[in-house]
Order: sequence, then C-alpha cells, then structure tokens
Amino acid sequence: MEDSVSKLSESPSPRRGCLFLVATPIGNLEDITVRALRLLGEADLIACEDTRQTAKLLNHYGIHKSTVSYHQHNEASRANELLKRLEEGARIALVSDAGTPVISDPGHRLISLCLEYQVPVIPVPGPSAVIAALAASGLPSEEFLFVGFLPSRVVARRKKLQDLARENRTMVLYEAPHRLAQTLSDALEYLGRRQAVVAREITKIHEEFLRGDLAELLVRARQPLRGEMTILIGPPSSQTESGAELRAAPLRDRVEQIMREREIDRKAALKLAARERGLTKREAYKQLLSGA
Ligand code: SAM
Repeated sequence: MEDSVSKLSESPSPRRGCLFLVATPIGNLEDITVRALRLLGEADLIACEDTRQTAKLLNHYGIHKSTVSYHQHNEASRANELLKRLEEGARIALVSDAGTPVISDPGHRLISLCLEYQVPVIPVPGPSAVIAALAASGLPSEEFLFVGFLPSRVVARRKKLQDLARENRTMVLYEAPHRLAQTLSDALEYLGRRQAVVAREITKIHEEFLRGDLAELLVRARQPLRGEMTILIGPPSSQTESGAELRAAPLRDRVEQIMREREIDRKAALKLAARERGLTKREAYKQLLSGA
C-alpha cells in the first residue's frame, strides 16, 4: 500500500506518452475504480472498441473527452496512428466495451507496437467477467484455465475440446447466448459429465448463476437464455464419467443416455451417438439392431 497514492503521476517522465489499459464495468456502472475515472478524465484520447458504448459510461460520469474507435476491423491501421500519437507524448486510454481490454478483446497489436517502440503500457485493473464468474462459481479456483471463446468452426472446435479432455483444472469459457446449448452439448460429449456453472448477466439486474452438471445445464439451456454468459467447467471428479467412457458404452446404452440427458427422441439421439463414434447413420442403425 505504501507509496500507492504518491505514485499517481502515472508516467515515468511527464513528457512521455503512455498507454493505459483501463478496465471498465461488465454491467453495473458503479464497478469502476477511482483511478480509472481519473485517468479517463485526464487522457488526451480514449481509444474504444465501440465509441457509442463507451460514450454511455463517459456521459454517466460527466467525462468529456475525444474518443476514437479501435476494434478488430481497424486494429492494423489504427494501431499505427495511435503509436504515432503516443510517440508525440499523448496519454491514451484503451478501453473495450466491457471489462478488461485485451482479454478476448482488441488491444494486443497496439501493445506489441508500444513495447517495440518503448512506449510504456500501464494496466489499470478492474472488472473482468472471467474473474467475477470464477470467484462466485463455487468451483475450485486455486488454479484455472481461461479458454475464452471456443473456435466456431466445427473441426477446430472439436480438436480444441479433445485437447481439453485431459484438463484437470476449472476451465472458463466465454460464449454468445445463441451458442450456449451447442457449447454445453459439445463439452458434455468431450469432457464428460463434469460440474459446471453458467454465470449470466453478472452485476446486472438479471444476474444468475446456474449450477449443475453439464447434462443438467444442457437441459436448462433448452429454454433460450438471454444476455452475456460465461461458462465454467469444473475438474473431473472420481465419479465423473469421462467423455471417453461415455463414448465407450454399448451403443444402445449410449443412445438411451443421450435421450435422457438431452430430452430428445431416439432418432436424434442415434444421430448424435453415430457422430460421436464416427459412424454413418446406417452403420449405427445396424449396430443398434445387432445389439452391439
Ligand atoms: N474483456 C472482457 C472481460 O474482461 O471480461 C470480455 C470481452 S468478451 C468479447 C465478451 C464475453 O465476456 C461475453 O460474450 C461473455 O462471455 C463474457 N461477459 C461479459 N460480460 C459479462 C457479464 N456481465 N456476465 C457474464 N459474462 C460476461
């Protein structure tokens, strides 16, 4: 704690530009630090993922500053422009729409450039959905793996989940609401029936933590859930049926199990079981009839 307040000049040299990575709320606008507000007010420029989104925060706190967009589609050109301003001595605050910049958000390119050109990069810590979700999840948190968003392409997604099947730490995933059910279903298939949490709308009015195993959460997710969500998947316990065990069960048992877990009919369950085992529907049907 000592010296923390007297360090507030924030920059190694008064004339040098520097880049502040300013964390902003993930919902509740009160979740912002005093330091973040002061630095936003003092910055020469605020680089925002979406200027309209950040304007809501700035207006709420009566901060009137120039803003410029910095997002995944203009990162390359904008990073060079921002570097030029920084080298001329500007103090620039980088913010994303919510939470900590760079964490599954734009910023990496600019930071690399700053480091290459010896421009100081200064973190201004605050909210991040991964930490808020993990802390309240009740899942083991001594060690964890932040996965971020799974790849959207099917092959890459399966490969990633296969790699994660050996993971023994709690995993934290970001996901869009319309993909929640698919992700839970894929996770169940590859990681087995682990304990999990869907942390929804953290710090907002409809904040909710859904807890259960992956199969139970999958059933809940059949009713569409709205809002921002973070998925946490716990380590396998000694009783957890692994994805490999689930897939090794006789086909007939596996089909029954999928029907129960996902509340779907036999035909749909057979299709999923066939996919799991790399069988065509015809081969799976033959196996089912033969009792294998
Ligand atoms: N940089 C941000 C951070 O530090 O949390 C994350 C940005 S990432 C593009 C957005 C994802 O974070 C959402 O799709 C969701 O998975 C998660 N997220 C953001 N806000 C959330 C909230 N209030 N509740 C639950 N998850 C949230």
